[in-house]
Amino acid sequence: MSMTVWALRRNVRRKSYSMLVRFTSGSASSGRDTIKPNEQCIEKVLVANRGEIACRIMRTAKRLGIQTVAVYSDADRDSLHVKSADEAVRIGPPPARLSYLSGAAIMEAAARTGAQAIHPGYGFSSESSDFAQLCEDSGLTFIGPPASAIRDMGDKSASKRIMGAAGVPLVPGYHGHEQDIDHMKSEAGKIGYPIIIKPTHGGGGKGMRIVQSEKDFADSFLGAQREAAASFGVNTILLEKYITRPRHIEVQVFGDKHGNVLHLYERDCSVQRRHQKIIEEAPAPNISEKFRASLGQAAVSAARAVGYYNAGTVEFIVDTESDQFYFMEMNTRLQVEHPVTEMIVGQDLVEWQIRVANGEPLPISQAEVPLLGHAFEARIYAENVPKGFLPATGVLNHYRPVAVSSSVRVETGVEQGDTVSMHYDPMIAKLVVSGGNRGEALVKLKDCLSNFQVAGVPTNINFLQKLASHKEFAVGNVETHFIEHHKTDLFADESNPAAADLAYKAAKHSAALVAACVSAIEHSAWNESNHGKLPSIWHSHPPFRVHHEAKQTIELEWDNECEGTGSNLVSLGVVYQSDGSYLIQEGDDSPSLEVRVTRAGNCGFRVEAAGLSMNVTIAAYLKDGYKHIHIWHGSEHHQFKQKVGIEFSGDEEGVQHRTSSETSSHPPGTVVAPMAGLVVKVLVENEAKVDQGQPVLVMEAMKMEHVVKAPSSGSIHDLKVKAGQQVSDGSALFRIQG
Ligand code: ADP
Ligand code: ADP
Ligand code: MG
Repeated sequence: MSMTVWALRRNVRRKSYSMLVRFTSGSASSGRDTIKPNEQCIEKVLVANRGEIACRIMRTAKRLGIQTVAVYSDADRDSLHVKSADEAVRIGPPPARLSYLSGAAIMEAAARTGAQAIHPGYGFSSESSDFAQLCEDSGLTFIGPPASAIRDMGDKSASKRIMGAAGVPLVPGYHGHEQDIDHMKSEAGKIGYPIIIKPTHGGGGKGMRIVQSEKDFADSFLGAQREAAASFGVNTILLEKYITRPRHIEVQVFGDKHGNVLHLYERDCSVQRRHQKIIEEAPAPNISEKFRASLGQAAVSAARAVGYYNAGTVEFIVDTESDQFYFMEMNTRLQVEHPVTEMIVGQDLVEWQIRVANGEPLPISQAEVPLLGHAFEARIYAENVPKGFLPATGVLNHYRPVAVSSSVRVETGVEQGDTVSMHYDPMIAKLVVSGGNRGEALVKLKDCLSNFQVAGVPTNINFLQKLASHKEFAVGNVETHFIEHHKTDLFADESNPAAADLAYKAAKHSAALVAACVSAIEHSAWNESNHGKLPSIWHSHPPFRVHHEAKQTIELEWDNECEGTGSNLVSLGVVYQSDGSYLIQEGDDSPSLEVRVTRAGNCGFRVEAAGLSMNVTIAAYLKDGYKHIHIWHGSEHHQFKQKVGIEFSGDEEGVQHRTSSETSSHPPGTVVAPMAGLVVKVLVENEAKVDQGQPVLVMEAMKMEHVVKAPSSGSIHDLKVKAGQQVSDGSALFRIQG
């Protein structure tokens, strides 16, 4: 972002503060903008959430001089959000319904610590009108909208009726009370196929079904009713015209308790997987000023229609064929992607939330809202991209997010050594970048993604990089089916041999660099162990000898993200030369590569290969009988593994972890859990005959339901798991016998 824009942003900030006369303190002590105490001011806030959002809320509270109280379940005792708070209260065991969703436990924690206000964050109880009411009834300030607005917007059908009456455009559809199947079918006919069926009380993309023609209506309708009843406790359904090439564009709105409502522009959240956003940006690309203004106005009308105050988001679906936009739903809370808006308007939305809850008027008027450049957010998840983006769990053995600056934010709730558990959302961090325009911001996004280092759990970072580098993304041609439409470019797998081949070549080059760096580490490790230090993870047996020309073979297995692309073994001969360089050779016939390595700090190396000199980072950890080695250089990141015969108890960086020597040795036909999670339903019994593809059981991990199907026809055996049981990734679920 240019200097002028930043200067402008600072001026805007100053202006917004100076308008808040009641809150401006005379003397700012220890870097905090202390709030002048008066009987209405919040002095202590309890954050009823965890992870990055709890940390982010506490950061602003601290800056305002407000004391912070964290709550935690037993799974989070040592979490960053607990360490970030002035005080923290244990509220129960790991399952959310017994801790983070327990209104009673949270009220008790507030009473114990004397907190006057509750910030719910997002997820958990943030959109529960009962929780908002409970806070008010307990004499606590709920930092959010009025309970009545949460109630009005929580039912998608009711909210559509209110929006229709307020003149906000709606997707053609049926959102009435009459739920009789024949009536619904005739309504679907009037709308015209394809249609989308949605649970009225749904969320997180669950239970929605697309129906292409009338003959499929009954099955989809009954299925959606069942799923809605099971997931949301209410089986009411609404129908909408299915928009075939839509964009998801949402508007950030804000209201105060004095009747002022404004919008802070829009965010495009079209890039989604499993109906969930992964890259968001503000403002939306490729829309006219006129369109932007209409969206903003419609969102403000929507908020006014329900007497809204505090932060909210009005989601619209935009038909890219007709350029029409329609109201989809309102999220009555702070949204995950709020930082992109903060970047382009130069405001702290959590500060606004606290001030509004305190009774302050909005600090600026609609005309004073600036639009400064462009911002992106990428959600970094612990997930298994080739396995259909299934959530993953594990220890963050190596975690080095990028350095933050005025244009780069990292919102995170974890530190190196923490565990991503199966109990909660698998998001590791949000990377937020801004620039003077979209192009500048995109360059920064790609650079930050390639420098964001995580090892220990599989992540979507490489996939996000591919998304951000896609030529259609570069020109802002986004829509909700972006990933599906560009899958051949985004996934290098057996269906895309050319891309897979290219990826393998790049990996082989990285493997050569790994071999050189590993050899260099072994040399120093040998030296250290010779001087009485403990052998490290890097120690080879027998060790490489220093100052002698020696040869060893290093076998690396490329841990790639392209499933089923054949052999991934790379066998490398490493010759240590007396001048300190290494000759690396794959097989006997290929040319050898001369590599020089200089260590540059913990995990860092300066590597010179074939006349190219570069910075390289190497991280390794032990898991399931393998040494896993990651390498980052330039925009490349690859991971390899090596079988190890011995047990270790720690690694270079002192991260403790358990080494399992029992690698998977299940009998043939065993079906294992594709992710760690909860078994919610078992659909068949032992000995039952099943057809290939038939659902056998349903698993769930935070926000994600997964149906485990029979891989082939046969009978079910050794089915020991029960509904309500937690299972770990890769554990045996049942066996199928043909
Ligand atoms: P948003 O609509 O804010 O962008 P998503 O669509 O990704 O969020 O998430 C869908 C639902 O899951 C929302 O109700 C959101 O509050 C909840 N959610 C998302 N991330 C988390 C999290 N880390 N912890 C708890 N709930 C979450
Ligand atoms: P949720 O409460 O689960 O977030 P939404 O109604 O917000 O449900 O829809 C989630 C996503 O589903 C949208 O972002 C969009 O990708 C898709 N979607 C919703 N309604 C339609 C529609 N009428 N036509 C096409 N896609 C839709
Ligand atoms: Mg939604």
